[in-house]
Amino acid sequence: METKIETNLEQVQARIESHIDTISTFTATPGKGTTRLTYSHEDLQARQYIKLKMKEYGLTVREDGFGNIFGRLEGTLKDAPSVLVGSHFDSVPNGGSYDGPAGVVAGLEVAALFAENKLTPKYPLEVIALVEEEGSRFGGGLMGSRGIVGLLDEEGFNRLKDKDGIYAVDAMKEIGLDPSLPKKRDRKTMKAYLELHIEQGPILEEKGIPIGVVDAIVGLTQLEVCVKGQAGHAGTTPMDRRADALVTAAKMIAQFPELAETEGEGTVVTTGRLNVFPNGANVIPDKTVFTVDIRSGKEENVLNVIQKVKDLAVSYSETGIEVTVEQLLYIQPKEMNKDIVSLLKRKSSELGIPKCSINSGAGHDAMVFSDFTNVGMLFIPSKDGLSHCPEEWSDSRHIANAVQVLYEAAKKLTEAE
Ligand SMILES: [Zn+2]
Repeated sequence: METKIETNLEQVQARIESHIDTISTFTATPGKGTTRLTYSHEDLQARQYIKLKMKEYGLTVREDGFGNIFGRLEGTLKDAPSVLVGSHFDSVPNGGSYDGPAGVVAGLEVAALFAENKLTPKYPLEVIALVEEEGSRFGGGLMGSRGIVGLLDEEGFNRLKDKDGIYAVDAMKEIGLDPSLPKKRDRKTMKAYLELHIEQGPILEEKGIPIGVVDAIVGLTQLEVCVKGQAGHAGTTPMDRRADALVTAAKMIAQFPELAETEGEGTVVTTGRLNVFPNGANVIPDKTVFTVDIRSGKEENVLNVIQKVKDLAVSYSETGIEVTVEQLLYIQPKEMNKDIVSLLKRKSSELGIPKCSINSGAGHDAMVFSDFTNVGMLFIPSKDGLSHCPEEWSDSRHIANAVQVLYEAAKKLTEAE
């Protein structure tokens, strides 16, 4: 028994490597990473490969009106909702071979294991490969998943064009896709969505743990803080007579790391942009504008930090200084389905694969699906935490581990026998 699983795992791993290697050749920038924009020639090549493998693994292939690909293994229950497994297959310009494809390939291999073990599911299993998650061609991102759940409608889609003015619908037709095919899916057709993704950060590698079970995809808040003071001559204004907008901003920013640490639970706070006015070497700054990016898997943490930044603003609004805070962006954290999280953890333990809980600091298609169906997500380590670059790398052994966990979870969710 033990040997059989071992052999199986090695076979799965070898196939994973072959899929990843092949898909990575479908790039517009050979030798300079993966550049696979949606509806490009490279999209078509990857698409053909994915569809071919789906067919080989006994799935019935269809595409929707966005070009998302679905490979379906029918269930025995009539009109039952599907268990979806997959990720996206587009890339950023000069990206890596794993962001997206690792999850698509994992879906394919789950289907392969269903076929090899001659399983008959009650609920259909669907391997899905999504378009335009990165938004590198048409902007915004998460287009394929947003389209499936109905957040991007026909009109919205018809308006989309790339930087060269090419409409998405025309680009689709250019590679032989049919935008008139059905787009939105009724949520009743989906039982669950499972996604494997590379971590794109250093945590799993540093901990030496091969699987992260995602608890939540972090919420994202951007604040813009504006500090107004009084300009003055750098030589003639005594120190006690100044209302220096930059010094106040600096005092505030310096407190953010501690603020994040106090909040805990992986809360991160970043100031990445700061503009100083008038920005002259010999002028006391009269205005400073800076951003505060706040992320956490728990909404409570995000709200606390927002309040603390506002409190800081009030406390620094002293004579001659005025601090205002504006909220530019607010995206709620998305918690993964608790039952699926437990299921994924249980299956990892049963398989003897070490795992830990983790939050996703980046957005994923799973985030979109989480409002419409039960979602679970796995992370595998990224070498040196790198992603969105040609150096992006993950161990195929880790993908194979994740496939086993997803396979067991999918078996349970589809009630396969
Ligand atoms: Zn991705």
